[in-house]
Amino acid sequence: MSYNNCEVNRLKILVTGGCGYIGNHTCCELLERDYEVVIIDNLSNSKVEVIDKIKDITSKDVRFYKGDVCDKELLRKVFKENKIDAVIHFAGYKAVGESVSMPLKYYRNNLDSTLSLCEIMKEFNCKKLVFSSSATVYGLPKELPIKESFPLSTTNPYGTTKLVIEGILKDLYKSDNSWSIVILRYFNPIGAHSSGLIGEDPNGIPNNLMPYIVKVATKELECLSIFGNDYDTVDGTGVRDYIHVVDLALGHVAAIDKLKKSNGLFTYNLGTGKGYSVLELVNTFKEVNNVDVNYKIVDRRPGDIAKCYADTTKASNELHWHATKTIEDMCRDSYNFVIKNRK
Ligand code: NAD
Ligand code: UDP
Repeated sequence: MSYNNCEVNRLKILVTGGCGYIGNHTCCELLERDYEVVIIDNLSNSKVEVIDKIKDITSKDVRFYKGDVCDKELLRKVFKENKIDAVIHFAGYKAVGESVSMPLKYYRNNLDSTLSLCEIMKEFNCKKLVFSSSATVYGLPKELPIKESFPLSTTNPYGTTKLVIEGILKDLYKSDNSWSIVILRYFNPIGAHSSGLIGEDPNGIPNNLMPYIVKVATKELECLSIFGNDYDTVDGTGVRDYIHVVDLALGHVAAIDKLKKSNGLFTYNLGTGKGYSVLELVNTFKEVNNVDVNYKIVDRRPGDIAKCYADTTKASNELHWHATKTIEDMCRDSYNFVIKNRK
């Protein structure tokens, strides 16, 4: 574990989207460090059973409100019933492909939830916020590794929601610098909690690489299609910065710690700084789990870039955080979660 906070924390953190993949791992890490946690989630992409799993893992209680972050009356109720010190805002839709076919659904949910949340936070004078952004805001980076200062652009409506929200938060901070806001740009989160109780559990056929690999390994899907082997990379397949979800969760604990100490608007990449190709990930997965993963090479996926990995210096210097889990840990934990939860 790379981030350890020895202080006693009694702060109460509201986690929107806390039943989801990154949210539930973050709730566990906060509870382990004695933060109190309140979750709002409408369960549009998660299951209520996760709440009991968080309690099982941490032996701590957590308060759960089932409902929509766009619902300002519900938010008011939550803030009235709990003295919230800071908010981590995960709630949002995240499927790139779906955002292309249903842009309004994405703009409505991702923007509305953020605006409603910030308005109610202001009403209750709670001005400490951590926001989930994405490396997708770097568009097609001209150089690697990617630094936070690089130009921003997007290639799909999902990415545009993240970029617009970043802009809204910057304007909000400019208008009132008693806010403290940390924008976290995640690279490619994979892996699962070592207990095997929580992990990534997408509905239907996965779009992302790791959930697809796992379903091929368990024979739920026949064959992985690798999108192109003619990129300018180590073996021709796409390179990404995969980060273990528990390391990512610890990045949020570090961000909360930053908010406790300083006012400002801060933006950090959360990645490992290392890139792995699709074939490297598939081969590592086969090796550590001793399973086969059938694959075939197909055409490039439209919109994909050859390589993407983070410069993590800023997070390391200012958050005193860095990822420590290996690609082997990520492959082992992703598979362990699915094996333990197979119906
Ligand atoms: P997830 O879908 O597993 O979790 C999101 C949670 O938010 C779900 O439990 C869903 O039910 C809930 N939700 C959605 N809209 C809501 C609303 N209006 N009100 C209440 N609850 C709502 O996604 P995740 O992978 O945990 O991602 C969390 C955040 O991180 C998202 O904002 C996502 O865009 C961002 N992000 C994710 C990745 C990734 O690869 N997973 C990468 C970069 C950024
Ligand atoms: N990828 C692939 N087959 C799949 C899914 C993804 O070859 O079924 C590749 C994709 O082209 C990219 C990498 O795996 O090079 C990571 O893709 P993912 O969708 O997981 O993340 P993102 O594209 O958002 O970085």
